[in-house]
Amino acid sequence: LIQLYMPLNFLGIVYREIRQALTDIERMFGLLNEHREVADAADAHTLPADRQMQVDFDSVGFAYETSRRILHDVSFTIPPGQTYAVVGHSGAGKSTLSRLLYRFYDVSNGSIRINGHDLRSVTQHSLRSAIGIVPQDTVLFNDTILYNIRYGKPDADDDAVFAAARAASLHDFIDGLPDKYQTRVGERGLKLSGGEKQRVAIARALLKDPPILIFDEATSALDSATERAIQQQLEVAARGRTTLIIAHRLSTVMNADCILVMEEGRVVERGTHAALLAAAGKYADMWFLQQREIQEPGGEGVVA
Ligand code: ATP
Repeated sequence: LIQLYMPLNFLGIVYREIRQALTDIERMFGLLNEHREVADAADAHTLPADRQMQVDFDSVGFAYETSRRILHDVSFTIPPGQTYAVVGHSGAGKSTLSRLLYRFYDVSNGSIRINGHDLRSVTQHSLRSAIGIVPQDTVLFNDTILYNIRYGKPDADDDAVFAAARAASLHDFIDGLPDKYQTRVGERGLKLSGGEKQRVAIARALLKDPPILIFDEATSALDSATERAIQQQLEVAARGRTTLIIAHRLSTVMNADCILVMEEGRVVERGTHAALLAAAGKYADMWFLQQREIQEPGGEGVVA
């Protein structure tokens, strides 16, 4: 029986390896497919590099499918270096804003401009070089943690990777791992928690050092210490960059220069945390509801 078991066990291992490799390839293609939605214009120019970048959404309308409009007449300007946060119920269109800014899709109406350049008029390469994304769910490659952070800037030297890890408060964690930066992570290696994965994404973004940062907050619940830590690292990452935060927890947005409240694809309120509380509108309702839930854990889920 053991003679039969050994090869079968071996085949099982091979099968799992192949399945994992296919999962990675599917994920890669998932990303590539998104990139295929848009193409460079024949006369596309390079977005001029600048540390100071202003983002303008000008009467933006958008539909993934023509029959269902997702965004209606969305206008706002993020001045260079400021942080704008978007809140609203699930499905309000928050993440769609970040997908449009990265030009995974083109707007259906209106325009998005960076320093006055319409996104459709610049090369995708130059646009994406200017933007760092910290996504909700970070894809980790089946490789070392060093490789996974360096992915933010493949030509970065080791010291730059360590510095980014330090700034994202990952260095001490990595230093405590048996193989330190050579520790393998991903599906076949060490599994990282949601908070640790998001920190890897922050380190990648810091390494890339882009003038514009998009932070798509994880929807999954983090414990409050991790949440505070991520909040701090986000503030470090946002310093000096034009930042768009897609927020699911209102605690993340309190210090933003401006909060945009979205409902069914429209911006229905905007202002600082203090101004929106004083206005006693939808944001204030969400805030007081969320405060009550923090005090009475086990209630309804988060609202933003
Ligand atoms: P959440 O807080 O749950 O992440 P959100 O406010 O970020 O929600 P979006 O992800 O922007 O919402 O989605 C807005 C709407 O667009 C939703 O109704 C969603 O079903 C729809 N949608 C999102 N992605 C696609 C897609 N690729 N194709 C078609 N519809 C989509």
